[in-house]
Amino acid sequence: MLTSYLSTMLKNKTKIAIVGGGPAGATASLFLSKHSIEHTLFEKATFPRDKTCGDGLTMEVYRTLNEIDPDLADEFVNLDFVKKSGGAFLGDINRREVDFDYRVEGGISPIFVAKRIHFDNWLFQKTKLSTCSTIKEGIGIENIKRLDKGFVLTTSDGEEFFDFLIGCDGERSVVKKYLTSEGIKKKKLHYAGAIRTYYRNVVPKRDYCPLEIYPLNTFNGYFWIFHLPNNECNVGIGGLSQEISNKKINLNREFDCFIRDNDYISERFKDAERLGKNQGCGIPLNSNRLKYYGDGFILIGDSASMPEPLTGKGIGVGMIASFLAMPTILKALEARDFSKETLSEYQDSVLNKYEKEWDALYRYVPFLSNKIVHWAIFNFCKIPFIKNLHSKHIATVTQKMMVAKGYEK
Ligand SMILES: Cc1cc2nc3c(=O)[nH]c(=O)nc-3n(C[C@H](O)[C@H](O)[C@H](O)COP(=O)(O)OP(=O)(O)OC[C@H]3O[C@@H](n4cnc5c(N)ncnc54)[C@H](O)[C@@H]3O)c2cc1C
Repeated sequence: MLTSYLSTMLKNKTKIAIVGGGPAGATASLFLSKHSIEHTLFEKATFPRDKTCGDGLTMEVYRTLNEIDPDLADEFVNLDFVKKSGGAFLGDINRREVDFDYRVEGGISPIFVAKRIHFDNWLFQKTKLSTCSTIKEGIGIENIKRLDKGFVLTTSDGEEFFDFLIGCDGERSVVKKYLTSEGIKKKKLHYAGAIRTYYRNVVPKRDYCPLEIYPLNTFNGYFWIFHLPNNECNVGIGGLSQEISNKKINLNREFDCFIRDNDYISERFKDAERLGKNQGCGIPLNSNRLKYYGDGFILIGDSASMPEPLTGKGIGVGMIASFLAMPTILKALEARDFSKETLSEYQDSVLNKYEKEWDALYRYVPFLSNKIVHWAIFNFCKIPFIKNLHSKHIATVTQKMMVAKGYEK
């Protein structure tokens, strides 16, 4: 066993680069710092930078922050740009409604809504507080050359050598492009397309619950209204790219029609003010099960196609995956062995936690727009036993978190 002094020396001799400072990359940096591991984080944008998203932050976000530092999790829930949600509301144009109430008396909220421009900036700035991190903001990676051992990264600033790379650079990942056979080709079957825009003064459906989801019965996807602080909300629509393309669906038109042509929705937008243009982006889904590792590198978050196929949510999973990667990284550092054999343990940890859930969700996706299934969802979810089972499950997990303030598998 290495003495901790020697171990720290070895860890710090290894040159580690994180590419991308979104939620996955910032989280990876915070965990490396927590373990006193020196590293460089390259982020091509200058923060605050926006990211097209629904702005819904799941329980996994809180869990991961709590794992980095319980004070960080406490700070997060009290930020003025974060809105707490006590549940989720499901509705459809036929005025069928289901409420999922996740509130635990006196407890923390299980879900949050926060504009990414604020949340990502808050998290990114935290990475700068450690003496172990060198943050290269506004410096993107343009090329990656593999050597016998290690890599040369080309940036706008010149070239730099690294032993180990952590690719957190999102949907169009350069790490994936240069180091995997997958490249960055879009596979429509395993992609979702979505657009969103901000509004002010949309009337909320429920006070306790800023998350409103409306499954569509025209194609596999949903319309959402996620309420933010200051009477603002994130409104969007999205679905599977393959179907959008095959049916020649124009998302901008669908979005406008959904609001305009359904009384159930339009009555709530009567006094609403649109705060900008629709922004669109692709979501790489985990139905495309990539290899999250190779010799000398790992991929985390969207660069590894981690978002869920049913909901498109990917922030929390990227952050949790950064946490789950740490034991493998520590082991590789100690052994000075960044071979794919060693790094494969990271993929096992992620799949041990998520594979069953992801596979189950993927199976539901093709049926969602089917009218009978749609009808069944609303009626099935209304059965008190089913509804309570789901709500109780979330409430119980939340309660446990509150008590233990720790991460549970
Ligand atoms: C319309 C829409 C709605 C969504 N809604 C939700 C939601 O409500 N909840 C949810 O959980 N998820 C949602 N998602 C998915 C979510 O946005 C992503 O899963 C999440 O952003 C992934 O985080 P990440 O850190 O992996 O990547 P990103 O957030 O994309 O961050 C990648 C970072 O890498 C940087 N970068 C890129 N290339 C380079 C380079 N060459 N060099 C250096 N830096 C680089 C980028 O500037 C960026 O800061 C939505 C997605 C879309 C498109």
